[in-house]
Amino acid sequence: MKAKKCIECEKETYQADQICVACKIGLTQMHAELIDLLKKDKKWNLQKLKIAKMG
Ligand SMILES: [Zn+2]
Repeated sequence: MKAKKCIECEKETYQADQICVACKIGLTQMHAELIDLLKKDKKWNLQKLKIAKMG
């Protein structure tokens, strides 16, 4: 799936209506911080998955 740009903040979003989750729930001010946290969380989850697969 290709990322689209949020029509509110122009950050990449996968939402079909092109409004990212942060804008939807009204956290635009915290947006950069939130995205950063989400990215970190994603990486963390991927690392955990890899470790789980390696068993
Ligand atoms: Zn947004």
